[in-house]
Amino acid sequence: MRKYILPAVLLLLFEMIAVTFWLTKENLFYLFNFSYIGVAITLGMVLYIKKYKHARRVVQLLIGTYMLLYLGLICGENMQIEGFWYYLFSGVFEAATIHYAVAKIFGPLIFGRGWCGYACWTAMVLDFLPYKTAEHPRKRIGWIRYIVFTVSLVFVAALFLAHVGHIAKIMFWAFIAGNLLYYIVGIALAFAFRDNRAFCKYICPVTVFLKPMSYFSLFRIKCDKSKCVTCGKCRQVCPMDVDITDNSRKRKNGTECILCMECVKNCPKDAL
Ligand code: SF4
Ligand code: SF4
Ligand code: SF4
Repeated sequence: MRKYILPAVLLLLFEMIAVTFWLTKENLFYLFNFSYIGVAITLGMVLYIKKYKHARRVVQLLIGTYMLLYLGLICGENMQIEGFWYYLFSGVFEAATIHYAVAKIFGPLIFGRGWCGYACWTAMVLDFLPYKTAEHPRKRIGWIRYIVFTVSLVFVAALFLAHVGHIAKIMFWAFIAGNLLYYIVGIALAFAFRDNRAFCKYICPVTVFLKPMSYFSLFRIKCDKSKCVTCGKCRQVCPMDVDITDNSRKRKNGTECILCMECVKNCPKDAL
């Protein structure tokens, strides 16, 4: 039963978040929202423990489609980075600001870039593409993310500064257009660079939050050097080019891991 302690702790953590937001915001939606996400993650972890090979994909699809289709398209919440700026400038701690605070800013202090491995609706689609691991070494074009980050900030700031009307409606359409653009660019890059996660490595503006915060992550995969035989299998299967045998928190290792567990599953010596 000990192996079920971690899923149980995570479920409890999400329930605490759910109840806290439900009571402080006096909105039942938060109880449903965070309970759903907590249950989906717990289900995935249980499936993983039971050695179901698509466990991560199940969680990714459950959470990704919920956020994209239900929260985004049906409820009309812009959950992309523009939505975060929108709520932030509006001065309300709602929807995208709460989502960013939990999943992408403070949450990564605990679960690192788990968001990228288990919940992101962009990667949910990209992970269906054929290049599970990169066929070429990483390119030095990660600076593009800062440009995309700045453009998103300037776009929303300009709407406020120019006192444009119907910003809420614009944000809804920006969510649809932004996602379409991300999918088109993400899929094109995946094929061009032969790497499903090229968008994550070079373009995604959310990594400007995710990377520094996940540097301090509590949950990390560590390598037991006494068991490791330096076979290199973990590196070969890693979609993010991480050398997980290096236990240091160097930028490359400490901020790129998406906790997908492929290295752990494939290590012949159970060293991870
Ligand atoms: S890096 Fe960006 S696109 Fe990739 S999984 Fe993370 S949040 Fe999603
Ligand atoms: S797969 Fe395991 S044994 Fe091989 S290098 Fe990685 S940690 Fe070491
Ligand atoms: S280091 Fe392991 S868990 Fe992290 S991204 Fe690479 S394969 Fe996945």
